[in-house]
Amino acid sequence: MQKSSSLDSASVVWRDDTPVSTAFDDMYFNVNEGLAESEHVFLNGNDLNDRFASLTTPHFTIAETGFGTGLNFLAARRLWLQQAPEEARLHFISVEKFPLQKADLQKALASWPELNDGAVQLTESYPSLTPGFHRLSFDGGRVQLTLMLMDAIEAYQQLSAQVDAWFLDGFAPSKNPDMWNDKLFQQMARLSHTGTTLSTFTAAGFVRRGLQQVGFSISKVPGFGRKREMVTAHFAENSASAPNPAPWFAHARPQHTPAEVVIIGAGLAGCSTAYALAQKGIKVHIVEQHAEVALEGSGNRQGALYAKLPVSHNAQGQLHLSGLHYSNRMLNRLDPQRTLWSDCGLLQLATNEKEANRQQRMLDKTIFGADILHSVDAQQASDLIGSPTPYSGVFMPDGGWVDPRALCRRFISHPLIRVSTNTRINALKQQDNVWHLHTPDGQVITTRCVVVCNAAQAKQIPQCSHLPVKPIRGQTSVTQNTVKAPAINTVVCGDGYISPPLDEQYCFGATFDLHNLNLDVRQVDHHDNLSKLSAVLPALAKTIADTPLEGRAAYRCSTGDYLPIVGPAPDYDAFVSDYAKLRVDRKWNFSDTPARMHSGLYLNIGHGSKGLITGPICGEVIAASILGEPFPLEKSVLDAINPARFIIKQLIRKAI
Ligand code: SAM
Repeated sequence: MQKSSSLDSASVVWRDDTPVSTAFDDMYFNVNEGLAESEHVFLNGNDLNDRFASLTTPHFTIAETGFGTGLNFLAARRLWLQQAPEEARLHFISVEKFPLQKADLQKALASWPELNDGAVQLTESYPSLTPGFHRLSFDGGRVQLTLMLMDAIEAYQQLSAQVDAWFLDGFAPSKNPDMWNDKLFQQMARLSHTGTTLSTFTAAGFVRRGLQQVGFSISKVPGFGRKREMVTAHFAENSASAPNPAPWFAHARPQHTPAEVVIIGAGLAGCSTAYALAQKGIKVHIVEQHAEVALEGSGNRQGALYAKLPVSHNAQGQLHLSGLHYSNRMLNRLDPQRTLWSDCGLLQLATNEKEANRQQRMLDKTIFGADILHSVDAQQASDLIGSPTPYSGVFMPDGGWVDPRALCRRFISHPLIRVSTNTRINALKQQDNVWHLHTPDGQVITTRCVVVCNAAQAKQIPQCSHLPVKPIRGQTSVTQNTVKAPAINTVVCGDGYISPPLDEQYCFGATFDLHNLNLDVRQVDHHDNLSKLSAVLPALAKTIADTPLEGRAAYRCSTGDYLPIVGPAPDYDAFVSDYAKLRVDRKWNFSDTPARMHSGLYLNIGHGSKGLITGPICGEVIAASILGEPFPLEKSVLDAINPARFIIKQLIRKAI
């Protein structure tokens, strides 16, 4: 897991319009010839023109060291759009420890009018400069950028991908030795295959030797302009690559691309997963037991885009932050008019001493920059809301609300997605690698690939019965008449939450009931919601109290560790017998014992009340796993949400 502090951005000076890093005393590119140099060294050095034009795979992955201004990325993207088949996807993965501020990025890219359309997309979606993986989408999904904002070695340790071409573009090795060392080369070998190529502007001896040692076969070729030599290479063998220390968390590379994926459950997790797959050209069949989509936990009128950020960095915080930004960018592309969502920001009020202390510790640690969250006193909070509150808190500008049913409907309007409603699956059987999905009335649906997205009901499927998921009842309240008070401007969370009105109706809640599983709407729960609202927004609550309320009750699907369950489904019995002798002292090497999974069976469940921020990015994780594409999240986060974690924890507990 990466360090918890926020990043230092690059300090750039401009010498005759050429951007220069003051820290490294080296330039990002030469303003006269930078694009031509990038094309010579990286595009031609990896033979990308021909490889793109003759591509036979559905995707191609480039990985770079040193994102800088994004010039190499934009040059590769342009070539891709010119040469590659329209239905194929380019994944460009890059790392940056000292990211440029947006204004410097914009100024640098203004040097290349021929790359302007890509530069506009890049500056529009350029992420907040927080550590972690940031997945950005370009050109309707044809180009995907995974920007890893952290140190190069750490980033590539955290990456799960198979790279086809490497661009080694740190500053000169003499000025930036951290970027050119054996630890990085070992990670590169781990991520390479026999067809992988590499190019770099440097021909430094220690770089060549280091790359050779991990299995690259090196050639010296003429450099750009007056530079005599540069290096190209191809990967020959995988002898010195970094081992996988936890085979039970590995996502095996898929053997085949499925003709159609069947998804069980049409809530946010199911519809997000379907959309992620359909965007990559895969046909999807969703089966849903109800008469419509999003009728259970994803059926509330409004849900908050809310990341629960921790005091110290952990996997949950990283998932929430990556997920919040991913959802935000995706909604912006899907619905720029904001008909089904709003990025109005979110206030987390400190309604008790414990929460006030927690927020203070979080702010003291400055893990998150002010663009992620900043503190507000009670007056500032009241001004932001547009209604008085007695509490201080933290404001998250990237928060907001979404109409989750409308979002699900938007997802499934994709032409590659079909939905069978009133279809309940009660058994899953596999024969000769084909899954047979049985309904109680004797229908059988067959497929090679299934994703289980039906929340706590997954437990009824025998292959998933070991998973620690449970339903928790929650009731929301919705005002029926116009509320005679000025509309609030932002989502407000205290012990409950309320969003700005949608069609003049306020939706607020929600109750949290572990013991009562009845879904009838209860008056006592409306009172509970109103009293929580009254604590944070007394004036608004007073007005709302005079209007009749409707409501709905549904289950959230919670897990033992508050993280969703996302990835390939482990074969419980095989895991127990293979890893029963698991020793925590790590003296035994388990990398020889690959994990046995139910082939073609995946899970995306357990999102609790955070499905709006974790559902879409986890849909991408499932699509990456099924299609063998680069993952959008760090390995530490993928391990933390891996469905096998509960079995491994159970075995470790027994072994101690
Ligand atoms: N490829 C870039 C482009 O197209 O504009 C230029 C890259 S510039 C020559 C090298 C980059 O490596 C700088 O942006 C620098 O901040 C980054 N860098 C230096 N040391 C690093 C490290 N240890 N980890 C990650 N990035 C690093």
